[in-house]
Amino acid sequence: MVRRVAVVGAGVSGLAATKCCLEEGLEPTCFEQSEDIGGLWRYTEQAEEGRASIYRTVFTNSCKEMMCYSDFPFPDDHPNYMHNARLQHYICKYAKHFDLLRHIRFKTLVTKVKKRPDFSVTGQWEVVTQRDGKEETAVFDAVMVCSGHHVYPNLPLAEFPGIQKFKGCYFHSREYKEPEKFRGKKVLVVGLGNSGCDIAVELSTVASQVYLSSRSGSWVMSRVWDNGYPWDMLIITRFRTWLGNILPRALSDWLYVRGMNRFFKHENFGLMPLNKTSRKEPVFNDDLPGRIACGVVVMKPNVKEFRETSVLFQDGTVQDDVDVVVFATGYGYSYPFMEDDSIIKSRDNQVTLYKGILPPRLEKPTMAVIGLVQSLGPIIPTADLQCRWAVKVFQGRWIGMYGNSTTLQTDYITYMDELASAIGVKPNVLKLLLTDPQLALEVLFGPCSPYQFRLMGPGKWSGARKAILTQWDRTLR
Ligand code: FAD
Repeated sequence: MVRRVAVVGAGVSGLAATKCCLEEGLEPTCFEQSEDIGGLWRYTEQAEEGRASIYRTVFTNSCKEMMCYSDFPFPDDHPNYMHNARLQHYICKYAKHFDLLRHIRFKTLVTKVKKRPDFSVTGQWEVVTQRDGKEETAVFDAVMVCSGHHVYPNLPLAEFPGIQKFKGCYFHSREYKEPEKFRGKKVLVVGLGNSGCDIAVELSTVASQVYLSSRSGSWVMSRVWDNGYPWDMLIITRFRTWLGNILPRALSDWLYVRGMNRFFKHENFGLMPLNKTSRKEPVFNDDLPGRIACGVVVMKPNVKEFRETSVLFQDGTVQDDVDVVVFATGYGYSYPFMEDDSIIKSRDNQVTLYKGILPPRLEKPTMAVIGLVQSLGPIIPTADLQCRWAVKVFQGRWIGMYGNSTTLQTDYITYMDELASAIGVKPNVLKLLLTDPQLALEVLFGPCSPYQFRLMGPGKWSGARKAILTQWDRTLR
């Protein structure tokens, strides 16, 4: 019987895990190495060891109706996309509302998680923690790993010949906080992900010139979509997902490329992804095309070589007098507290998890990795549903095995429905059509907002119907 659960980390995933355990009558203990909740969304002036670090102006890419916890909508007067401080405020309200704080041990670092000798029978883990230099060991029936995955920088300097000769300064985007100290400098940003684009655009307001280098291009989308509505409320719908699944691949690819080019034609801006039909996560940036059009951000291909003060690019062009290089080259997965790293990471250093959650080679399913899958959808509702699913698995109370998804890249609604079906909380659209047609139509054609997974089954929330039928009102407000 699973009773005591260790939760590693008190970011949005760890809070969801703690709440789910409480709802199911389990005893969670959440360990957080820093002094507060929020994880990535708690901005600090200095990057902290072992915790994600964001720049001052990070805003969400997912709108408030799509990225909330499924039973805790954002207040009406919040803007659709939020500055990190506002999201942090919401996270604190969530923790307070569900009385989660008393289950969290702050300033407590999990240093080791290892199987007990009788793991194959009990499924139990030994968790070693450190607080104020004192070490403690405790036994738990299950562990939920919520330690985040934007923490350990991926800085592949070996792929950049000559970087040792480069006399300017260079650093990973994790270290970037604000633009002022780059006033008047020539800056090269390497990497066309969300951070790379945000940083390039922000620096272009103070730097003398910004170059943005990309190996393979990216789809760049605006947060503001047709008629000014949030992109995700229009795009992430059950109807569109269903259409995408039934249309011939060539037609759905064509529609996809057309949709992605709606904001601007990527080819004309040097941004066209090399593999344009792969459903790789797009980048969200409302300002990048404008900055390119004004010439303050100049697109460049991959770097071929760094020299003392200049940079040679793959197309043979050279930029002289580059002062600063920001490597926005993403993050790698790391679980330094796992005694046996291979439980989560496979031999080629990739992560493969059953349903994107369970390490597949464990004798007992008593470990869940939360918040690691990548989809077009927001992380909070994903983590929330993952936790609800995982807790049922721990208790042996889940309804069935569907498919065998082990990759981390997944389609949002298909993935959410898969988890929801297994625990009996997937909305039954046919039944709703007969009993509540107004709601059914909004569920089918409207945004697949998190409240849909609280309409029925275990964990049903009485406010879910109203939240769905008023989501557009809150958006306009
Ligand atoms: P984190 O927020 O990283 O929290 C992990 C927590 O675990 C931290 O508090 C850390 O201190 C703690 N911890 C780690 N190791 C230990 C240990 N050994 N012992 C004790 N405590 C430990 N997602 C969206 O859905 N929408 C967005 O708009 C969005 N924007 C983003 C913008 C940026 C710039 C970045 C980098 C990411 C963005 N994301 C976005 C993704 C983001 O990762 C998630 O929103 C979310 O923060 C992940 O939460 P988490 O709880 O899984 O991890």
